[in-house]
Amino acid sequence: MTTVFQKIINREIPAEILFEDDICISIKDIEPQAPFHALIIPKKVITRVGEADNEDEPILGHLLITAKKIALEQGLEQGFRIVINNGSDGGETVPHLHVHLLGGRRLTWPPG
Ligand code: AMP
Repeated sequence: MTTVFQKIINREIPAEILFEDDICISIKDIEPQAPFHALIIPKKVITRVGEADNEDEPILGHLLITAKKIALEQGLEQGFRIVINNGSDGGETVPHLHVHLLGGRRLTWPPG
């Protein structure tokens, strides 16, 4: 199944792209949950963290470092949150691994 994120990577549907390199793409979330809400998506189709292989370790690290860079570029020095939803109980709706980067307001805890 081709997910919406694969279609964005393939330029089959539009998205507001914040960053792209050989390993990942970052886009604005279409339904933002905070004043700033981006997604960092690996170009390799890894379905979810729970199905990542050991060999995917550099990609997973790259996603977090990219999220940090974007957070600082966006001026989120006051703080930000990185979230990865995994599986139905985790709130995952798109089966292509993605890191949420949220900021721009005081985020509450615990999450819903
Ligand atoms: P998750 O629920 O963790 O799987 O996150 C999926 C995220 O993708 C949600 O926050 C959606 O708002 C977002 N999303 C779905 N379709 C698009 C799209 N076409 N462009 C940008 N973000 C999207």
